[in-house]
Amino acid sequence: MREQNGTGLAAPQIGVGLRVFTFDVDDVAGHLVNPVLEFPDEEEQDGPEGCLSIPGVYVDTKRRQNVVAKGFNRHGDPIQIVGSGLMARCAQHETDHLDGVLFLDRLDAGRRKEAMKAIRESEWYNPEAPPVVKVSPHGVFGR
Ligand SMILES: [Zn+2]
Repeated sequence: MREQNGTGLAAPQIGVGLRVFTFDVDDVAGHLVNPVLEFPDEEEQDGPEGCLSIPGVYVDTKRRQNVVAKGFNRHGDPIQIVGSGLMARCAQHETDHLDGVLFLDRLDAGRRKEAMKAIRESEWYNPEAPPVVKVSPHGVFGR
């Protein structure tokens, strides 16, 4: 996450089948296990969002402005993150990953079209390449 200047990373993005994400926003860093989000109000934000799993693609994405993210630390102690702006965006983006949702899924039709165009134009996009299946070194199945 830090190598790529990301603000968050969810375990499934690196092949770990656990409900945990890391974050580093405005010098507040940590991780949250089994996050549950609550929204204290109806306020929204709209701004550029990207994803370490979709490098170089940034599209304006609507999110809630304020969030209370409740979960646990690595010791099993309950913790909560009260955040707004980028922290709120990060918590929503990473919790979505844990539910199999990408920020692309949050876009309206016009913005999704813009995102898919950016993906097709990216240097890593290659529809001719055979799919690559990797076994996670952190695998939780069959071990
Ligand atoms: Zn992401």
